[in-house]
Parts: sequence; structure tokens; C-alpha cells
Amino acid sequence: MNSALQQQTLHDWKGIPFSRSISGLPAGPVDLTTLQVNLGKRCNQACLHCHVDASPSRTESMSRPIAEQCIDLLERIPSLEILDLTGGAPEMNDHFRFLVESARRLGKTVIDRCNLTILSEPGFEDLASFLQQHQVEIIASLPCYTRETVDRQRGHGVFDRSLAGLKELNQWGYGTTLPLHLVYNPSGATLPGDQALLEADYKTQLSALGIQFTSLFVLANMPIHRFLATLLHDQTFEPYMDTLAAHFNPSAFAKVMCKSQLSVAWDGRVFDCDFNQMLELPSPNFPTLADITVDALARRGIRYANHCYGCTAGAGSSCGGSLT
Ligand code: SF4
Ligand code: SF4
Repeated sequence: MNSALQQQTLHDWKGIPFSRSISGLPAGPVDLTTLQVNLGKRCNQACLHCHVDASPSRTESMSRPIAEQCIDLLERIPSLEILDLTGGAPEMNDHFRFLVESARRLGKTVIDRCNLTILSEPGFEDLASFLQQHQVEIIASLPCYTRETVDRQRGHGVFDRSLAGLKELNQWGYGTTLPLHLVYNPSGATLPGDQALLEADYKTQLSALGIQFTSLFVLANMPIHRFLATLLHDQTFEPYMDTLAAHFNPSAFAKVMCKSQLSVAWDGRVFDCDFNQMLELPSPNFPTLADITVDALARRGIRYANHCYGCTAGAGSSCGGSLT
């Protein structure tokens, strides 16, 4: 689905508009701490629920000049403490290691959103040791601890390769001395369960397989891209949106990630978050990376729309898991 059609579909949904739900609530940004950089749409997987529409056939990938502008931004804006690298498979970008090394040199925390199977792709044999050497924090997708569910969502053989990736990361100290967070999302059009209960469940199941991890982040499925197409195909779009809206949580809205982060696309355009990026809703405040200054940040606004119910339903959902 192209982004215009997605925007129209979300706009035409018949429920209470998100703008009305947040009327009267503080909606502005707080201190900017995180720069999330999407290095492109290339991925070695093509998962059913991918909100990026990534796959091995995609060619969009960040260039060196844009990567250098991201590092320049980290230098110019002192409050930016975290560089959060995502994709696609961010490690497939030619400038991934440049970004990691440069940001670490500046003393920033670096997060790699890793799909785990990339660790066993040819040419990436030294990736785990590189990440460990630079003390990169890892957030890895594992939507379930059963082979059947993971392979259905993410492709045949992904479960076994993901476990192999986790075991390799454990050997490098991830899950014990270095952070290794896992990401869960529901397999269908339902809200995710309680994060603490699911984490306890994951710990039991994965420790039985000899795998350690730091914590579990529970994410709701955003009604955009492939998941939106699935909802429309299954005629569950309206009921799913109704469920999200019925569970709108003002406490979650107070902590949505767009309030403290900016998102940069592979081509250098600036967005409030990765989801707005995928819907082609750029930040009106920052046409380019060079427009982000301390003064301009003080005036920035956030582009909310109906998909934002995905971040604010129930316990809330963000790139760091539940919000409340
Ligand atoms: S691994 Fe991540 S980026 Fe790649 S297709 Fe799956 S969900 Fe999308
Ligand atoms: S989807 Fe909406 S609420 Fe969620 S981070 Fe993006 S702009 Fe904020």
C-alpha cells in the first residue's frame, strides 16, 4: 500500500479522531534525548507484520554524506545521548560501522535493532564481536518462543536461526554484562498482554533452552503498511482501530516516544518517529537535518494522527516497550 492510501484509510476510519482524544492533554515535546536513524529498507527477511515494508529486494539505503550529517547532529545537540539504529536490517548498510564507531567516540549510547538472523548471514560472521567491542546495546525481535509462531510471522527457519543468534550473543556477554532486550508483538489484531507477565514467561522458556536476555519489550502492532494490508484483507481494520481507541490511555500518551526523539530516514528527511516516517508524514519543522538546531527544537511540534492510537492503547507501546 502506498503511503497516501494508508493515510487516507486511517483518516477515513469512523471512530473518534485521535486529535479529539488528546484534546486538552499536553501534546508537545519534552527534552530530546534520542536520535533514531533508519538506515534503509534492505533486510534479509520479509516479515508479515513489518511496518517498514522491508525485504531483500529493497534497495533504499543511507549514503555516507547523510550518515555524516547524523553524526554532525549528535555533536551539535548535546541533549542527544542515544543513537538508535534501525532499518530494515541496519547492519546491511555500508555505513553502519562508521555510525557506531563515530557515535561511541562522542560518548553516545548506541542501540542496534537486530533481527538476529543477520548474525548468520554470509559476510556478517564478525558482527557480534564488533557490537561487543563497541558496547552496543541490542534490541532484538523475537515475537514468540515457539517455532511455529515465529516462522509464520517471520519466515521459515527464522526461529532456529534466531536462537542460534541469541546463543552467539550470550557468548559475547549479551544478556549478562551487556544489554540484550527482546521484542514481542502479538501475532494478530489484539492488544499485547502484560509486559511483566510475558517477560517472566519468556525467561522460563528461553532459560530452558540455555538463553539469557535482559528484558522483554512488548509492542502493539501498528496499523500501517503490511499489518494494515492484512487488517484490510481480513476485514479487521475497523474492529482493531476500535479496540485501540477504546483502550486509549492518557498516561501512555504522556510518554510517547516522539516527545523525546527524532527519526531520520535513509534519505535524510526528518520525522517525529519511525511510524510517521513510514506514512510519509515528515516533520514540518525540519525540512533537512541541517535545520535541527537548539533554537528550532524549542519550537517543534509533533504530527499526530489516528495511527497514534497504536502507541497509546492499554499500557502504551514504544520502541522501548510498554509506557506505563
Ligand atoms: S526483520 Fe524487521 S525490518 Fe526486517 S522484514 Fe522483519 S520486521 Fe521488517
Ligand atoms: S505514532 Fe504517533 S504517538 Fe506514536 S511515536 Fe509516532 S507520532 Fe508519537
